[in-house]
Amino acid sequence: MAEPVIELCAITKTYRMGSVTVSALAGVDLVVTAGEMVAIMGPSGSGKSTLMNVLGCLDRPTSGEFRLAGRSVARLGDDQLADVRNRFIGFVFQNYNLLPRLTALQNVELPLIYRGESTGRRRQGALAALAAVGLDQRVHHLPTQLSGGQQQRVAVARALAGRPQVLLADEPTGNLDSRSGQEVMGIIQGLNAGGMTVVMVTHDEHIARHCRRIVRVFDGRVLADETVGDADRTLALPTGSAAVATGAASTPAAAVSGAPPPPGGR
Ligand code: ADP
Ligand code: MG
Repeated sequence: MAEPVIELCAITKTYRMGSVTVSALAGVDLVVTAGEMVAIMGPSGSGKSTLMNVLGCLDRPTSGEFRLAGRSVARLGDDQLADVRNRFIGFVFQNYNLLPRLTALQNVELPLIYRGESTGRRRQGALAALAAVGLDQRVHHLPTQLSGGQQQRVAVARALAGRPQVLLADEPTGNLDSRSGQEVMGIIQGLNAGGMTVVMVTHDEHIARHCRRIVRVFDGRVLADETVGDADRTLALPTGSAAVATGAASTPAAAVSGAPPPPGGR
């Protein structure tokens, strides 16, 4: 029986804007166990990003209990929350959020600088993460010199570099064409096959079916929680890029996540 990594109990989040209060999360209960791959779906404004920001320790709930890897984090102070975020969470955003003046390598090294790792270890970790997403030939490129799909792969590498327990992604394919989206999903599926716990938001049913579980939210509440059977599951077949096809989706990604490669690869 896998251990719970994320345990949310009666989580609420209320935004106060002058005299108006917005209830973005209205009592969310959710348990995600180690090694799961979960899609969060729901209409615009239903609280998906708010939920991800709470899960990612980017924001605190207004009330409720949140345990991450067994540790209660709902009421930690800013410094402690940042520390938990650095050690346990890799976060991927829809718009990549890369620093424009830094190369791919420097962007991926950033979280390792925050962790106080030595220059050598940092470089080694960042290069391994970039190789895991098939970008070992692009490490000195600036974000503007990369396609959208490549930029998102750099962002995935940055999320991986710190060897997080959980990868969170808020609409990771939202800005990508379908082929680039498939490549990113192939990488994320490979990471999950290597043992990484994944929670991602998408509004695309086809993308969601890359996951084994779909949680549907509406008006700040969980409306449904479905299991995706093997027959209905989408496997992101390697498309085009040899690097993604031969390496990233299986062995090197698994090496970065610190878990054994998936049996048989893909
Ligand atoms: P989704 O990601 O599902 O589109 P969000 O979590 O972004 O939804 O938003 C949920 C609700 O909370 C919306 O009504 C939104 O307007 C509101 N909201 C989100 N962030 C803020 C904020 N920083 N201040 C005030 N209201 C917010
Ligand atoms: Mg959102």
